[in-house]
Amino acid sequence: MSADLNQPLSASEPPSAPVSDESALTGTVLAVQANFYFVQLDQPQGDSDPPIEQLLCTRRTRLKKIGQQVMVGDQVRIEEPDWEGKRGAIAEVFSRQTELDRPPIANADQILLVFAIAEPTLDPVQLSRFLVKAESTGLGVCLCLNKKDLVSEAERAEWGDRLHDWGYDPVMISVRGNLGLLDLEARLIDRMSVVSGPSGVGKSSLINALIPAIDLRVGRVSGKLGRGRHTTRHVELFQLPGGGLLADTPGFNQPDLDCLPGELAQFFPECRQRLSEARCQFSDCLHRDEPNCAVRGDWERYDLYLMFLEEVIARQEAIDRTGDPESTTKVKIGGEGQIEVEPKLQTKKYRRPSRRTEKQLLRGIVQDVETLIDDGDAEV
Ligand code: GDP
Ligand code: ZN
Repeated sequence: MSADLNQPLSASEPPSAPVSDESALTGTVLAVQANFYFVQLDQPQGDSDPPIEQLLCTRRTRLKKIGQQVMVGDQVRIEEPDWEGKRGAIAEVFSRQTELDRPPIANADQILLVFAIAEPTLDPVQLSRFLVKAESTGLGVCLCLNKKDLVSEAERAEWGDRLHDWGYDPVMISVRGNLGLLDLEARLIDRMSVVSGPSGVGKSSLINALIPAIDLRVGRVSGKLGRGRHTTRHVELFQLPGGGLLADTPGFNQPDLDCLPGELAQFFPECRQRLSEARCQFSDCLHRDEPNCAVRGDWERYDLYLMFLEEVIARQEAIDRTGDPESTTKVKIGGEGQIEVEPKLQTKKYRRPSRRTEKQLLRGIVQDVETLIDDGDAEV
């Protein structure tokens, strides 16, 4: 069950410009739970001291009727505030600048991709997979390498140069050593960043360091279900003390490369750079062995581009054959980097579950329903 960063959708929302009326109550949806939306107000308001910053809101029936979903990150207009009860109703969702569907987040500016420079060893193939996936969202990519305390200055410089050649300018930090955090904060200020990266690289440690009051979050999402919870599929925005928002998403170890073969090159800055300077002879060049290709050449990740391309093509062929690659085949990278397309196990329903797995299944269903409620998909 991996939550992926997916392509942003095109602007599918009904056009609605932010209202010009200065007295309008507007804010950002920080979290969604059941049919409740935690909204951070753009301007703290109300008669209390200090003024109220957040309202717990419902969605106007009118929005439900037109099928207008409210996502984490949405800019909204609120009506009928009840300052005493800290409640309100979302009356309008402004058009989204960007939209990710997995995790579901509106208006994010960049992906904050976190890796460790050591422990676990920084693997260029895995890093590139995450980078390609992050690039495929169309958002900016901020690459952060943690655990710099574990390597020598020479090793850091070597990685810095290497990543620079890939087209990135990584921020190197050590959460443990409290090093480089100011540099990172400077890149997050006043932006909405979505944290991504494999497990074990220090994402939780980093988020705790950036947002010291993070424990408050459990209080905010506890509610209907009667306990503080932070499920793996739950998405929530946290405010950075210096300004800006951070979305914490579950880690995933092997993000799928689910783009089209012809798109892949755009997700390598090295290719983008080459294509901005020259053109390939064929407009649909895949940069393999076509004549007069502007991309093919002596750059470090070119072989990796070819490897990913094969994977993307294999996936595309599976889709063309079956209409659904997920149900029949699984694309795997073998130990030596070779691509293997293997049949996938049939779905659970064809296997007779044992009593134990029946119980586990049931538990899974309960969790899924809870998560659905959390994600605000279920109308209760
Ligand atoms: P996550 O799985 O990405 O959320 O990673 P965690 O935050 O759980 O951290 C994984 C491990 O790395 C923990 O044992 C942390 O104490 C350790 N860790 C985190 N940051 C640093 C760092 O800057 N330096 C070192 N040496 N270890 C770190
Ligand atoms: Zn080419």
